Amino acid sequence: VDTSSKRLTIAIQKSGRLSKESLSLLQACGVKFNLHEARLLAHSSNQPIDLLRVRDDDIPGLVMDGVVDLGIIGENVLEEVRLERVATKLPAAVKRLRSLDFGGCRLSLAVPKEDSYNGVQDLEGKRIATTYPYLLQDYLQKQGVNASTAILTGSVEVAPRAGLADAVCDLVSTGATLEANGLVEKEVIFTSQAQIIQRPEPLNAAKQAMVDQLLPRLDGVQMARESKYIMLHAPRAALEQVVALLPGAEDPTILPLTHTDKLVAVHVVSTETLFWETMEELKAVGCSSILVLPIEKMLG
Ligand code: ATP
Ligand code: MG
Repeated sequence: VDTSSKRLTIAIQKSGRLSKESLSLLQACGVKFNLHEARLLAHSSNQPIDLLRVRDDDIPGLVMDGVVDLGIIGENVLEEVRLERVATKLPAAVKRLRSLDFGGCRLSLAVPKEDSYNGVQDLEGKRIATTYPYLLQDYLQKQGVNASTAILTGSVEVAPRAGLADAVCDLVSTGATLEANGLVEKEVIFTSQAQIIQRPEPLNAAKQAMVDQLLPRLDGVQMARESKYIMLHAPRAALEQVVALLPGAEDPTILPLTHTDKLVAVHVVSTETLFWETMEELKAVGCSSILVLPIEKMLG
Protein backbone atom coordinates (compact mmCIF):
# COMPACT_ATOMS: atom_id res chain seq x y z
CA VAL A 1 0.00 0.00 0.00
CA ASP A 2 1.42 3.37 -1.05
CA THR A 3 -0.18 6.22 0.93
CA SER A 4 1.69 8.90 -1.04
CA SER A 5 -0.20 7.85 -4.17
CA LYS A 6 -3.47 9.31 -5.33
CA ARG A 7 -5.44 6.22 -4.39
CA LEU A 8 -7.28 6.42 -1.11
CA THR A 9 -6.83 3.27 0.96
CA ILE A 10 -9.55 2.13 3.36
CA ALA A 11 -9.10 -0.75 5.81
CA ILE A 12 -12.21 -2.77 6.63
CA GLN A 13 -12.79 -6.04 8.46
CA LYS A 14 -12.29 -8.98 6.12
CA SER A 15 -14.90 -11.27 7.60
CA GLY A 16 -16.93 -10.69 10.70
CA ARG A 17 -19.72 -8.61 12.14
CA LEU A 18 -18.61 -5.35 10.54
CA SER A 19 -17.68 -6.61 7.05
CA LYS A 20 -21.01 -6.67 5.29
CA GLU A 21 -22.17 -3.28 6.53
CA SER A 22 -18.78 -1.62 5.94
CA LEU A 23 -18.90 -2.75 2.31
CA SER A 24 -22.54 -1.89 1.74
CA LEU A 25 -22.03 1.58 3.24
CA LEU A 26 -19.18 2.30 0.81
CA GLN A 27 -21.25 0.92 -2.05
CA ALA A 28 -24.18 3.13 -1.04
CA CYS A 29 -21.73 6.08 -1.26
CA GLY A 30 -21.12 5.19 -4.90
CA VAL A 31 -17.88 3.25 -4.53
CA LYS A 32 -18.01 0.03 -6.56
CA PHE A 33 -15.97 -3.05 -5.68
CA ASN A 34 -15.58 -6.46 -7.19
CA LEU A 35 -16.98 -8.50 -4.33
CA HIS A 36 -15.86 -11.86 -5.63
CA GLU A 37 -12.29 -11.06 -4.81
CA ALA A 38 -11.14 -13.01 -1.78
CA ARG A 39 -7.86 -11.14 -1.74
CA LEU A 40 -6.38 -8.76 0.82
CA LEU A 41 -6.52 -5.78 -1.52
CA ALA A 42 -9.60 -4.90 -3.60
CA HIS A 43 -9.56 -2.07 -6.14
CA SER A 44 -12.64 0.04 -6.76
CA SER A 45 -13.77 -0.18 -10.37
CA ASN A 46 -15.06 3.41 -10.54
CA GLN A 47 -12.97 5.46 -8.05
CA PRO A 48 -9.28 5.68 -7.11
CA ILE A 49 -9.98 3.78 -3.90
CA ASP A 50 -8.37 0.58 -2.61
CA LEU A 51 -9.85 -1.58 0.11
CA LEU A 52 -7.58 -3.43 2.48
CA ARG A 53 -9.45 -6.33 4.10
CA VAL A 54 -7.89 -7.43 7.39
CA ARG A 55 -8.64 -8.67 10.94
CA ASP A 56 -10.45 -5.91 12.82
CA ASP A 57 -7.74 -5.87 15.51
CA ASP A 58 -5.20 -4.65 12.93
CA ILE A 59 -7.27 -1.70 11.66
CA PRO A 60 -6.57 0.95 14.36
CA GLY A 61 -2.80 0.37 14.20
CA LEU A 62 -2.74 0.56 10.41
CA VAL A 63 -4.53 3.92 10.56
CA MET A 64 -2.47 5.25 13.51
CA ASP A 65 0.78 4.32 11.71
CA GLY A 66 -0.45 5.94 8.48
CA VAL A 67 -0.20 2.67 6.56
CA VAL A 68 -3.77 3.23 5.33
CA ASP A 69 -5.75 6.47 5.03
CA LEU A 70 -9.12 5.47 6.49
CA GLY A 71 -10.49 2.59 8.51
CA ILE A 72 -13.90 1.34 9.62
CA ILE A 73 -13.72 -0.13 13.11
CA GLY A 74 -15.70 -0.74 16.29
CA GLU A 75 -15.03 1.85 19.00
CA ASN A 76 -14.25 -0.98 21.44
CA VAL A 77 -11.31 -2.20 19.36
CA LEU A 78 -10.22 1.37 18.57
CA GLU A 79 -10.10 2.31 22.26
CA GLU A 80 -8.44 -0.98 23.31
CA VAL A 81 -5.67 -0.55 20.74
CA ARG A 82 -5.30 3.13 21.62
CA LEU A 83 -4.81 2.35 25.33
CA GLU A 84 -2.37 -0.43 24.49
CA ARG A 85 -0.35 1.85 22.18
CA VAL A 86 -0.26 4.66 24.70
CA ALA A 87 1.04 2.19 27.30
CA THR A 88 3.71 0.89 24.91
CA LYS A 89 4.59 4.36 23.56
CA LEU A 90 3.51 3.75 19.96
CA PRO A 91 1.70 6.36 17.82
CA ALA A 92 -1.93 6.32 18.95
CA ALA A 93 -3.59 9.35 17.36
CA VAL A 94 -6.44 9.14 14.82
CA LYS A 95 -9.03 11.51 13.42
CA ARG A 96 -12.53 10.30 14.13
CA LEU A 97 -14.59 11.24 11.11
CA ARG A 98 -18.05 9.83 11.82
CA SER A 99 -19.94 7.41 14.05
CA LEU A 100 -21.71 4.87 11.86
CA ASP A 101 -25.14 3.37 12.39
CA PHE A 102 -24.05 -0.26 12.80
CA GLY A 103 -21.91 -2.53 15.00
CA GLY A 104 -23.66 -1.43 18.17
CA CYS A 105 -22.65 -3.40 21.26
CA ARG A 106 -21.46 -2.95 24.85
CA LEU A 107 -18.55 -4.27 26.84
CA SER A 108 -19.91 -5.60 30.12
CA LEU A 109 -18.86 -7.32 33.29
CA ALA A 110 -20.83 -10.48 34.02
CA VAL A 111 -20.72 -12.99 36.84
CA PRO A 112 -22.11 -16.54 37.28
CA LYS A 113 -25.80 -16.29 38.19
CA GLU A 114 -25.35 -18.22 41.45
CA ASP A 115 -22.73 -15.74 42.73
CA SER A 116 -23.77 -12.84 44.94
CA TYR A 117 -22.89 -9.44 43.51
CA ASN A 118 -23.48 -6.08 45.18
CA GLY A 119 -21.21 -3.89 43.11
CA VAL A 120 -17.90 -3.72 41.29
CA GLN A 121 -15.95 -3.74 44.59
CA ASP A 122 -16.99 -7.42 44.92
CA LEU A 123 -14.52 -8.16 42.11
CA GLU A 124 -11.58 -7.13 44.34
CA GLY A 125 -8.90 -9.83 44.18
CA LYS A 126 -10.85 -11.84 41.59
CA ARG A 127 -9.77 -12.96 38.12
CA ILE A 128 -11.70 -11.66 35.10
CA ALA A 129 -11.52 -13.24 31.64
CA THR A 130 -11.53 -10.82 28.71
CA THR A 131 -10.34 -10.00 25.20
CA TYR A 132 -10.07 -6.34 26.23
CA PRO A 133 -7.45 -6.18 29.03
CA TYR A 134 -6.70 -2.46 28.59
CA LEU A 135 -10.34 -1.32 28.58
CA LEU A 136 -11.01 -3.57 31.57
CA GLN A 137 -8.02 -2.40 33.62
CA ASP A 138 -8.74 1.22 32.72
CA TYR A 139 -12.26 0.78 34.12
CA LEU A 140 -11.16 -1.12 37.24
CA GLN A 141 -8.50 1.48 38.00
CA LYS A 142 -11.10 4.27 37.81
CA GLN A 143 -13.31 2.24 40.18
CA GLY A 144 -10.40 1.62 42.57
CA VAL A 145 -10.66 -2.16 42.22
CA ASN A 146 -7.71 -4.56 41.96
CA ALA A 147 -8.46 -7.65 39.90
CA SER A 148 -6.34 -9.80 37.63
CA THR A 149 -7.11 -10.55 34.00
CA ALA A 150 -7.13 -13.79 32.05
CA ILE A 151 -6.68 -12.76 28.41
CA LEU A 152 -8.61 -14.96 26.00
CA THR A 153 -9.09 -14.17 22.31
CA GLY A 154 -12.30 -16.21 22.11
CA SER A 155 -14.85 -18.18 24.15
CA VAL A 156 -14.56 -15.74 27.05
CA GLU A 157 -18.03 -16.70 28.23
CA VAL A 158 -17.02 -20.27 29.11
CA ALA A 159 -14.08 -19.18 31.32
CA PRO A 160 -15.92 -19.21 34.69
CA ARG A 161 -17.35 -22.70 34.14
CA ALA A 162 -13.94 -23.92 32.98
CA GLY A 163 -12.46 -22.60 36.22
CA LEU A 164 -10.26 -20.05 34.42
CA ALA A 165 -11.87 -16.96 35.93
CA ASP A 166 -14.45 -15.71 38.44
CA ALA A 167 -16.10 -13.23 36.07
CA VAL A 168 -16.00 -12.13 32.45
CA CYS A 169 -15.71 -8.82 30.65
CA ASP A 170 -17.16 -9.44 27.21
CA LEU A 171 -19.05 -7.86 24.32
CA VAL A 172 -22.81 -8.08 24.56
CA SER A 173 -25.52 -7.15 22.12
CA THR A 174 -28.62 -9.11 23.16
CA GLY A 175 -27.29 -10.91 26.23
CA ALA A 176 -28.32 -14.32 24.88
CA THR A 177 -24.77 -15.69 24.89
CA LEU A 178 -24.23 -14.67 28.51
CA GLU A 179 -27.53 -16.21 29.57
CA ALA A 180 -26.79 -19.44 27.72
CA ASN A 181 -23.60 -19.70 29.77
CA GLY A 182 -25.22 -19.04 33.12
CA LEU A 183 -23.84 -15.50 33.42
CA VAL A 184 -25.60 -12.30 34.47
CA GLU A 185 -24.58 -8.88 33.12
CA LYS A 186 -23.73 -6.53 36.01
CA GLU A 187 -21.88 -3.48 34.70
CA VAL A 188 -21.64 -1.86 31.29
CA ILE A 189 -18.08 -0.55 31.07
CA PHE A 190 -18.04 0.71 27.46
CA THR A 191 -20.64 1.25 24.75
CA SER A 192 -19.58 1.00 21.15
CA GLN A 193 -20.60 1.41 17.55
CA ALA A 194 -18.67 1.39 14.29
CA GLN A 195 -16.58 4.44 13.44
CA ILE A 196 -14.83 5.69 10.34
CA ILE A 197 -11.39 6.99 11.24
CA GLN A 198 -8.58 8.74 9.37
CA ARG A 199 -4.82 8.71 9.84
CA PRO A 200 -3.50 11.68 11.83
CA GLU A 201 -1.13 13.14 9.22
CA PRO A 202 -2.81 15.38 6.61
CA LEU A 203 -3.81 13.68 3.36
CA ASN A 204 -2.49 14.88 0.01
CA ALA A 205 -4.83 17.15 -1.97
CA ALA A 206 -6.21 14.40 -4.20
CA LYS A 207 -7.08 12.16 -1.28
CA GLN A 208 -8.48 15.01 0.80
CA ALA A 209 -10.79 15.86 -2.11
CA MET A 210 -12.04 12.28 -2.09
CA VAL A 211 -12.70 12.34 1.65
CA ASP A 212 -14.50 15.69 1.24
CA GLN A 213 -16.77 14.04 -1.30
CA LEU A 214 -17.21 10.81 0.63
CA LEU A 215 -18.31 12.30 3.97
CA PRO A 216 -21.41 14.21 2.74
CA ARG A 217 -22.42 11.07 0.83
CA LEU A 218 -21.98 9.04 3.98
CA ASP A 219 -24.11 11.49 5.95
CA GLY A 220 -26.72 11.36 3.20
CA VAL A 221 -26.86 7.58 3.27
CA GLN A 222 -27.17 7.47 7.06
CA MET A 223 -29.79 10.23 7.15
CA ALA A 224 -31.81 8.46 4.45
CA ARG A 225 -31.71 5.20 6.41
CA GLU A 226 -33.23 6.96 9.40
CA SER A 227 -35.92 8.69 7.36
CA LYS A 228 -39.14 7.67 5.62
CA TYR A 229 -41.19 9.33 2.92
CA ILE A 230 -44.85 9.38 3.92
CA MET A 231 -47.70 10.05 1.49
CA LEU A 232 -51.38 10.12 2.33
CA HIS A 233 -54.72 11.67 1.46
CA ALA A 234 -56.11 13.77 4.31
CA PRO A 235 -59.42 15.59 4.84
CA ARG A 236 -58.71 19.31 4.36
CA ALA A 237 -60.70 19.95 7.55
CA ALA A 238 -58.48 17.65 9.65
CA LEU A 239 -55.15 18.85 8.27
CA GLU A 240 -53.83 20.28 11.53
CA GLN A 241 -54.65 17.08 13.41
CA VAL A 242 -53.02 14.99 10.69
CA VAL A 243 -49.77 16.98 10.69
CA ALA A 244 -49.63 16.77 14.49
CA LEU A 245 -49.87 12.97 14.26
CA LEU A 246 -46.96 12.64 11.83
CA PRO A 247 -43.70 12.16 13.74
CA GLY A 248 -40.75 14.43 12.96
CA ALA A 249 -42.57 16.05 10.05
CA GLU A 250 -42.05 19.79 10.45
CA ASP A 251 -42.56 20.89 6.88
CA PRO A 252 -45.18 18.86 4.98
CA THR A 253 -46.00 19.42 1.30
CA ILE A 254 -49.76 19.86 0.80
CA LEU A 255 -51.03 19.19 -2.73
CA PRO A 256 -54.56 19.57 -4.14
CA LEU A 257 -56.32 16.52 -5.58
CA THR A 258 -58.07 16.90 -8.93
CA HIS A 259 -61.20 14.91 -8.17
CA THR A 260 -62.14 16.45 -4.81
CA ASP A 261 -61.96 19.61 -2.68
CA LYS A 262 -62.47 17.78 0.59
CA LEU A 263 -59.17 15.85 0.44
CA VAL A 264 -55.57 16.97 -0.08
CA ALA A 265 -52.39 14.95 -0.58
CA VAL A 266 -49.82 15.28 2.19
CA HIS A 267 -46.19 14.37 1.46
CA VAL A 268 -43.59 14.45 4.19
CA VAL A 269 -40.08 13.26 5.02
CA SER A 270 -40.22 11.84 8.52
CA THR A 271 -37.17 11.29 10.67
CA GLU A 272 -39.02 8.80 12.84
CA THR A 273 -40.67 5.46 12.38
CA LEU A 274 -44.37 5.59 11.56
CA PHE A 275 -45.94 2.95 13.75
CA TRP A 276 -49.07 0.98 12.88
CA GLU A 277 -50.85 2.70 15.79
CA THR A 278 -50.24 6.14 14.26
CA MET A 279 -51.35 4.92 10.83
CA GLU A 280 -54.57 3.63 12.40
CA GLU A 281 -55.12 7.00 14.12
CA LEU A 282 -54.57 8.77 10.81
CA LYS A 283 -57.15 6.50 9.24
CA ALA A 284 -59.56 7.22 12.10
CA VAL A 285 -59.44 10.97 11.40
CA GLY A 286 -60.30 10.33 7.75
CA CYS A 287 -56.96 9.74 6.02
CA SER A 288 -56.65 7.21 3.21
CA SER A 289 -54.01 5.81 0.84
CA ILE A 290 -51.35 6.00 3.55
CA LEU A 291 -47.96 5.02 2.12
CA VAL A 292 -44.62 4.78 3.94
CA LEU A 293 -41.65 4.56 1.57
CA PRO A 294 -37.97 4.02 2.23
CA ILE A 295 -35.59 6.77 1.07
CA GLU A 296 -32.46 5.69 -0.76
CA LYS A 297 -30.32 8.85 -0.73
CA MET A 298 -30.54 12.42 0.63
CA LEU A 299 -28.49 15.52 -0.15
CA GLY A 300 -28.97 19.12 0.90
P1 ATP B 1 -11.63 -10.62 13.38
O1 ATP B 1 -11.48 -11.98 12.78
O2 ATP B 1 -11.70 -9.57 12.30
O3 ATP B 1 -10.63 -10.30 14.45
P2 ATP B 1 -13.52 -10.69 15.58
O4 ATP B 1 -13.93 -12.07 15.87
O5 ATP B 1 -12.51 -10.00 16.43
O6 ATP B 1 -13.10 -10.62 14.03
P3 ATP B 1 -16.34 -9.89 15.31
O7 ATP B 1 -16.98 -10.89 16.20
O8 ATP B 1 -16.56 -10.01 13.85
O9 ATP B 1 -14.76 -9.72 15.61
O10 ATP B 1 -16.84 -8.46 15.80
C1 ATP B 1 -16.35 -7.30 15.22
C2 ATP B 1 -16.92 -6.11 15.95
O11 ATP B 1 -18.33 -6.08 15.80
C3 ATP B 1 -16.72 -6.06 17.45
O12 ATP B 1 -15.42 -5.63 17.82
C4 ATP B 1 -17.78 -5.04 17.86
O13 ATP B 1 -17.33 -3.73 17.61
C5 ATP B 1 -18.90 -5.35 16.88
N1 ATP B 1 -20.04 -6.10 17.50
C6 ATP B 1 -21.34 -5.77 17.41
N2 ATP B 1 -22.12 -6.62 18.08
C7 ATP B 1 -21.34 -7.52 18.63
C8 ATP B 1 -21.55 -8.68 19.44
N3 ATP B 1 -22.78 -9.06 19.84
N4 ATP B 1 -20.50 -9.42 19.80
C9 ATP B 1 -19.28 -9.08 19.38
N5 ATP B 1 -19.01 -7.99 18.62
C10 ATP B 1 -20.01 -7.22 18.24
MG1 MG C 1 -10.80 -9.26 16.15
